[in-house]
Amino acid sequence: MLRTDAASIALVSYGKEALTNTLRETTDLYRLQLKENPNPAHLDRTTIGLTIVSDSIARLAEMHDIKLKPVFNLTGTVLHTNLGRAPMPAEAIEAITKVAKGASNLEYDLDRGKRGDRDQHVEAWVCRLTGAEAATVVNNNAAAVLLVLNTLAQRKEVLVSRGELIEIGGSFRIPDVMKRAGAKLHEVGTTNRTHAKDFQEALSEKAALIMKVHTSNYRVQGFTAEVAEAELAKIAQNAQIPFVNDLGSGTLVDLTKYGLPHEPTVTETLKAGADIVTFSGDKLLGGPQAGIIAGRKELIKKIKANPMKRALRVDKLTLAALEAVLKLYHDPDSLARKLPALRLLTRTEDEIALLVEKTIAAIRHFVGDDYRVETSACLSQIGSGAQPVELLPSRAITITTTEKQKKGKLTQKLSEKFRQLPIPVVGRIDDGHLIFDLRCLEDEQNFIEQLYQRDSIEDRK
Ligand SMILES: *Cc1c(COP(=O)(O)O)cnc(C)c1O
Repeated sequence: MLRTDAASIALVSYGKEALTNTLRETTDLYRLQLKENPNPAHLDRTTIGLTIVSDSIARLAEMHDIKLKPVFNLTGTVLHTNLGRAPMPAEAIEAITKVAKGASNLEYDLDRGKRGDRDQHVEAWVCRLTGAEAATVVNNNAAAVLLVLNTLAQRKEVLVSRGELIEIGGSFRIPDVMKRAGAKLHEVGTTNRTHAKDFQEALSEKAALIMKVHTSNYRVQGFTAEVAEAELAKIAQNAQIPFVNDLGSGTLVDLTKYGLPHEPTVTETLKAGADIVTFSGDKLLGGPQAGIIAGRKELIKKIKANPMKRALRVDKLTLAALEAVLKLYHDPDSLARKLPALRLLTRTEDEIALLVEKTIAAIRHFVGDDYRVETSACLSQIGSGAQPVELLPSRAITITTTEKQKKGKLTQKLSEKFRQLPIPVVGRIDDGHLIFDLRCLEDEQNFIEQLYQRDSIEDRK
């Protein structure tokens, strides 16, 4: 089999070991089949060797297809966790490429010619931009919360309002993280109302921290009360324990300046008296996956010294990207242009309507005559637990089957067809319609082109 023409070409692409192993595996499969049915109609025994070769090569090609790949996010959720959250700015990609290639001063102090601190470059930027005394970076915000709790509250109590015992998708739940960090959760107040005196009464010798958690993915409305951050900070200060604020997304700039809903900034949270603030790198910040811990120097020092920090630290690629992204924040006037996450969030309905106009013919061509393709107004979400309630006006292309029967099934089928494109297109299904919110469409030329290539794709199959 290895000596056939087809295999000798495949040998160059996949190497001898992979090809031989796959040929063996495929042969075994055919043996099994022939055992069950010695004279199958679909197999010609005289050319079975060649069939096994071509089958093996097809399996190898499928295996070697790069699995983690770009998609078009037309879900209308800008920071979509399942689709990789924030798109990265060109500056960050360039920085990653530069340090990925070879050696870098990741943990080396070039001035002193000695071992350095891997956080130092990013830390300087976080402090400059937020007014924090010190900062450190870990794998994600979940890790940041875990590390802060483990360092500052192991075997002690952490006071949290009952209204803030959140669950974020993917099993991040405050009570569980607390347990894993070795801290004891002390619930304070009630689901809808928590008062300063509740915190005061909950304080004891065992209390190590007061913690506030941003209610990222829901809002408590109606008859509610919460304790202001400055007041919580004062209560903590009087009890001589730190006040920690987990912002979740957080942001470094006042988003209302860009016409977006207000989200607490790290600077204002620190000003309100938080000793430690934790937030994500790939939510509103618009950078790589990371968890940033910023705040008081002596606390950050303790956090950095925790052996767990070593297990949760980030690599050079993340640090390179994060440094490049943070630098963009030095010029807030150009931020909405340079930072893709903010650029997409601030797109106006008119800009998006223009994209709808540009792409609708290609979509009509792709879906054919069995579907109605219309434009409609829609609402995008920021996503990733930033502002769960406030939505952004946007424009969509809505596709509906003209069939009366099996509407749901046909819509699913069509959605699958879009997902099977070379650059998969991911939308959302609502009430039997396939909806593409075009807020996040940036490379419309490629988007249009692959829709017109549909015939050739189907021909090949
Ligand atoms: C998103 C979020 C987290 C988890 O952050 P990751 O970066 O996804 O690990 C923790 N706390 C809050 C309040 C969040 O919104």
